[in-house]
Amino acid sequence: MDWEGAQPWHSPFWGSIRGHSPADGWGNIHHGLQKIHRKKQQGGSVSLRGFTPRNGPRNRWGIHDAERCPQRLRNRGNLLESCGECDHVLRPWPALGRILHVYKEPTPWGITGGRGMKWVKTHHSALSPLRRFKKPVEVSLPKLYRNRKGFVYVHVPFCLNNCRFCILYREKPSVPLDSYVNAVKRELQRFKSFKAKVVYFGGGTPTLLSGEQLGEIIDSIRGKSRPKEITVETTVREFTREKAEELVSLGVNRVSFGIQTFNEKKRLFLGRKSGLDEIIKKIELAREHFIVSIDLLYDLPYGNTLIDDIRTAIELGVDGLSIYPLEHTGYTKDYPHPSVEENERDFLKAYEILRENGYGHINMNHFTSGKDEFLYSRVFTRPWIPLLGIGCGAGGHVDFYQTFHPPGVRAYIQNPYRVMIFASESFEVERFLSGLFEGELELGECGLEEFPSLKLAIEKGWGVFDGNGFRLTPRGLFWANTLAYMMCLDYLRNRFCEFSSSSLKTESGEVV
Ligand code: SF4
Repeated sequence: MDWEGAQPWHSPFWGSIRGHSPADGWGNIHHGLQKIHRKKQQGGSVSLRGFTPRNGPRNRWGIHDAERCPQRLRNRGNLLESCGECDHVLRPWPALGRILHVYKEPTPWGITGGRGMKWVKTHHSALSPLRRFKKPVEVSLPKLYRNRKGFVYVHVPFCLNNCRFCILYREKPSVPLDSYVNAVKRELQRFKSFKAKVVYFGGGTPTLLSGEQLGEIIDSIRGKSRPKEITVETTVREFTREKAEELVSLGVNRVSFGIQTFNEKKRLFLGRKSGLDEIIKKIELAREHFIVSIDLLYDLPYGNTLIDDIRTAIELGVDGLSIYPLEHTGYTKDYPHPSVEENERDFLKAYEILRENGYGHINMNHFTSGKDEFLYSRVFTRPWIPLLGIGCGAGGHVDFYQTFHPPGVRAYIQNPYRVMIFASESFEVERFLSGLFEGELELGECGLEEFPSLKLAIEKGWGVFDGNGFRLTPRGLFWANTLAYMMCLDYLRNRFCEFSSSSLKTESGEVV
């Protein structure tokens, strides 16, 4: 089926919106699609734009203020009338709204998105259209992990900072840290036969725990296994010479600093505490004992400093660099930030500098000098390897089950066995798409016809097709999450179109 021949009932949402009345949200979409279809049949054109953006309210930076947009308020979220500048009107139905925004080309209904290509920044958002296939289930977790081997993630949700950009789950320490460590050990008791190959302490700030406390957790994880990589995340301030020596004695061999940027003004704005001199000293100290990796951010308010940051990182001799675009939430979303084109240009320049200095990529975010294998990054590029998530706010997966510990330190201390478990019906698709995050997609039996987004990606220079598989170019690494998102939408379309056409068959097999 091509886009031209598409009808409203080919929509992945058609099955789910039939039977709703115009009085509810889904009913509005249903009637909206009918209206578009009728208008198209009569030869008319359909536009999403109902008013000129110039008329809309602006905030102090001259940016359209979606919260006060009169069009949005007047239409109370009606999908068919967008001001063309804010996408809040589409929020009640995010996936449908995104279809309109992701494709520059006409969508199956012949509507063109208001703002062109949408940039999807994280792999969590990239796979978000598949969330609908996750169902809560009740199964025995210890049984699922019994005698398996894989990764262990321990979440330490305590932090003394309050960085403006932070979207991680963390709390100010309000309980004795010993009681949290004891709860973690109680939880680990259930997984004694699980062999940990890779261990990662994330947070929060795991180095707020003393060497003794970290040691107790590592001993409980180790059991019979010999982890090849043990990573501890840390802030610059919490990483001292004593802490480094304690970590060495515990067998930790990799530390990850959340630097974000070396630019002092930007650091101050983002709420980071340490200055440049302290950072340089701590990285030099860490390099004496560990493989050192740092996180850097781009798409920062008031412009990027990525190129300078990359040069500084190379001078300091770090072994690994993770480069992420900032997710704009809370404080940072109101400040002007670079356009997608500027971000793409900076990313490509950074890629070039890193290549010239002997750094290669192991996934779309992480670059290594060769010394840093960053085995833990395989949790999202190889989802078939079991990940045991431990601690309040931690996530994990095993086979097609995903686990999530609800936030709340006090509740966790009382009952560390409280875990939400979801069975994912779309696990095979996630497994298939995960190759994209490492830069190569094996298409196997799938053809380009099933994923029109891949054709679009080849046209845009994001990747090349060599008969067996699809390889991302450096530009493609920048757009990898967006492409994965578009392929999820292709999957939804294929799957629900099949459903629609089979449901239209009569008993004699004729399609009506
Ligand atoms: S130090 Fe890390 S965990 Fe703490 S607020 Fe900043 S980014 Fe978040």
